[in-house]
Amino acid sequence: MTTAATTDPTCLFCRIARREIPSTPVYEDEEFFAFRDIAPKAPTHVLVVPKKHLARLSEASPSDAPLLARLFLVLAAVAKAERAVDYRLVVNNGADAGQSVDHLHVHLLAGRSFSWPPG
Ligand code: AMP
Repeated sequence: MTTAATTDPTCLFCRIARREIPSTPVYEDEEFFAFRDIAPKAPTHVLVVPKKHLARLSEASPSDAPLLARLFLVLAAVAKAERAVDYRLVVNNGADAGQSVDHLHVHLLAGRSFSWPPG
């Protein structure tokens, strides 16, 4: 397991993960922090972030593979804790994809039906 996360002192989600900015946390371990989205798009809307600062998924390198694998396991565990059975995971990579915060995060959305394709 990796330790010593690299953080960006100016990054909103790094600051939330360090609890410098208030949030509603739902999960935390050495590597990840999960908290409720401030503007939920579904009855359950949780953001799961690695504590390591990666601006976006496309900045991940092969050395991040174990972290990214564990991220999915954490997402499944958070979904289970939220009693979500059917859920959608979303990663917006870049502004045109809808990314507004430059710190890799996965949206966990549940509690309603979702259409396809997404808007
Ligand atoms: P994205 O648009 O994919 O970058 O997602 C960023 C998400 O962060 C949006 O859904 C916002 O509602 C959410 N967000 C922004 N600021 C906060 C905050 N202070 N606490 C919780 N969620 C936030």
